[in-house]
Amino acid sequence: MVRRQNVGDEVHLRGLIELSNHCRRNCLYCGIRRDHAALSRYRMSRQEVLACVDQAVTMGYGTVVLQAGEDPVLSGPWVAELVGEIKSRTNLAVTLSLGERGQAEYALWRQAGADRYLLRFETSSPALFERIHPSLPGVKSDRVAILGRLRELGYEIGSGVMIGIPGQTYDDLASDIMLFAELELDMIGVGPYIPHPETPLGNETATGPQQPPASELMTYKMVALARLACPRANIPSTTALATLNLQQGRELGLQRGANIVMPNLTPVQYRSLYEIYPAKACIRETAAQCHGCLRGRIESIGRTTGTGRGDSPRRRQDAPTAPEPQKQ
Ligand code: SAH
Repeated sequence: MVRRQNVGDEVHLRGLIELSNHCRRNCLYCGIRRDHAALSRYRMSRQEVLACVDQAVTMGYGTVVLQAGEDPVLSGPWVAELVGEIKSRTNLAVTLSLGERGQAEYALWRQAGADRYLLRFETSSPALFERIHPSLPGVKSDRVAILGRLRELGYEIGSGVMIGIPGQTYDDLASDIMLFAELELDMIGVGPYIPHPETPLGNETATGPQQPPASELMTYKMVALARLACPRANIPSTTALATLNLQQGRELGLQRGANIVMPNLTPVQYRSLYEIYPAKACIRETAAQCHGCLRGRIESIGRTTGTGRGDSPRRRQDAPTAPEPQKQ
């Protein structure tokens, strides 16, 4: 009800392109962490990315999301040139999800036309965050501060958390929801934490009365609470959720408050290497198969596929004087 009143029945599609699985970080939960030496690493070429972008246009998506590990070889100017090229040849909105980078790079990418930035704060507990996401030497990770600066640069900002991280508490989840509201996020992604056996955290068992389960049900509760706390946010039904319930996870996420899905456009030969957690849903499907499957799922529950870019409804209402998105 709150979802329908605030963001309607449309489900917007964001084409996800996983540019690179190189990463300079060593997050304890993540399968593409630096120390996962057995993982083959890849980095897409500009031409490969642009071929995926063309597919996004063909399939009628309004947005492409460029995501990667924290890969310094994806340099500031290289990414800026790529964003500029996408903006000049299409009407797509461009969302970046490239981790913690310098302010000058964020500014450069915004100038090149990037519209949105996704950076999950992963958990609102500073102690838990520092434990599972070690800071790089000499630079303390402060994702909340970065989100504030991204907003000042004019990005729509997105963040989110994992649910059921070992050592997390129910109080932490409540604080996560309050932080979503405080940050006035345009986009909120929440998904279950899925243990990866090749990571330090993947071999820890989580117990205790305050430990929330990394379950489907707990994820639906968090999606629903995120919608109630931030009624006009764009909220995806995530791949991690679909991984826990391949039959119905996507649909149930959409029926509990979500209004976005992110079909994967990454070329099949790279998909299995972007293994942030194991048994990820949709890992073998081609872009066309993902597209057909997701559209079918949206229609099966009586929703419609969104047209246009699916910009932040929160922004559209709050900032009627904001400049129109650039059209070429
Ligand atoms: N390097 C970028 C993109 C990371 S991948 C960044 O750090 O922002 C996107 C998201 O996948 C992460 O923010 C995290 O919330 C999620 N993720 C990573 N490992 C996971 C795991 N084992 N289980 C569930 N989600 C995971």
